[in-house]
Amino acid sequence: MSLLSQTQKLQFQAVLQLRRAALDSQRSAHLDGQSRAEHARELLLQDSDDAKQRDAERELDFALTDRDAVELREIDQALARLAEGGYGLCADCGAEIPAERLQLAPQALRCVACGSRLEHDPSRVAAQ
Ligand SMILES: [Zn+2]
Repeated sequence: MSLLSQTQKLQFQAVLQLRRAALDSQRSAHLDGQSRAEHARELLLQDSDDAKQRDAERELDFALTDRDAVELREIDQALARLAEGGYGLCADCGAEIPAERLQLAPQALRCVACGSRLEHDPSRVAAQ
């Protein structure tokens, strides 16, 4: 097995963190446009309680489009796998994901075969 080198992993990690930051600022822009009043009310209600703040942040995640939310979740999972090991291996069948695929989509959790099977899953299309 020719697993990813440490240098490659660091590269993918940097790309993933950048992408995550971009999605985060996109979420903020979306909030500015759509639910500023609601957001302000939440801030007023939450005092400085950390647990409440975390709840509010979790709710804000829903302000992302479904696709963005899915991508953000994939990025988080990919970052976790980078930290814990297992990054670059298909989450479904365990096959090695080619580095070329990861370069195009560093958040990819599945090999091409398993990924396209998911994309063509009708229940996923219906959920859009
Ligand atoms: Zn697979």
